[in-house]
Amino acid sequence: MRWGDMRPSDNVEDRRGEGGGGRGFPIGGGGMRLGGGALILIVVVSLLFGVNPMSFLGMVDTGAPGSSVPAPPTRPAAPANAKDDASLAFVQRTLGDTEDVWSALFKNMGSRYDAPRLVLFAGSYPSACGMADTAAGPFYCPGDRKVYLDTAFFGELARRFGAPGDFAQAYVIAHEIGHHVQNELGTMREYDQAAGRMDARQRNALSVRLELQADCYAGVWGYYAARRNLLDPNDVDEGLRAAAAVGDDMITKGRVAPDAFTHGTAAQRTRWFKQGLATGDPRSCNTFAARDV
Ligand SMILES: [Zn+2]
Repeated sequence: MRWGDMRPSDNVEDRRGEGGGGRGFPIGGGGMRLGGGALILIVVVSLLFGVNPMSFLGMVDTGAPGSSVPAPPTRPAAPANAKDDASLAFVQRTLGDTEDVWSALFKNMGSRYDAPRLVLFAGSYPSACGMADTAAGPFYCPGDRKVYLDTAFFGELARRFGAPGDFAQAYVIAHEIGHHVQNELGTMREYDQAAGRMDARQRNALSVRLELQADCYAGVWGYYAARRNLLDPNDVDEGLRAAAAVGDDMITKGRVAPDAFTHGTAAQRTRWFKQGLATGDPRSCNTFAARDV
């Protein structure tokens, strides 16, 4: 991927070196507290790339008045050390490119894209959706409209999930941005309302559609990156490998029954990522209207 040619975003908050302990922090407005163990369990159940693990359990803190979630530190970003400058620059430029693409697409739809911020952290960091930590993987928090990303995850993607390459990493960012697009378009609110009336099995099925739509939106970004000659010949394969590698069936190695899938199988994730890549049209990403996903 020719990410050096992409415009760097101003919306990356480099919080590496500012992490805190994650034990027993409040995650809801109702005074509920969960210990680290319970939280990790929820996060594992919700699997990789969750929108926000807590939202599936109706415990999401949306940043409403009276929230007991601690505000993130307001200190200025720590200077990145030389070793990490490449990851920082990569994330800034990939994010900047998603901003350019989605700004243009929203303009075409007659509206304005309000870009999210992306928090780069190391270890753990507080979010409005609970503590972000390396084990949870990257996620988007609708409550504070930020993407949380530990660049250590990129190493995981290469080693544990067998999906190396810069475009594989860009896919991860673009997927989380896809969730922000869902938030901007109101899809996420509709999802929360519908999911609140469902049993666990139905909710999982709906969650899969939400995740697959984010994959399709990642593909839409990829379509425009390709059109501007920002991709290398094997980039699409890298992205497809990443989309497949993080399918629920791959992550859980078949230990989770399909009804419990919340993100979609490798085949489903690949299919919807390809859909966005082929069309470049967000309207082609209506996974909720599809009879089968
Ligand atoms: Zn997701």
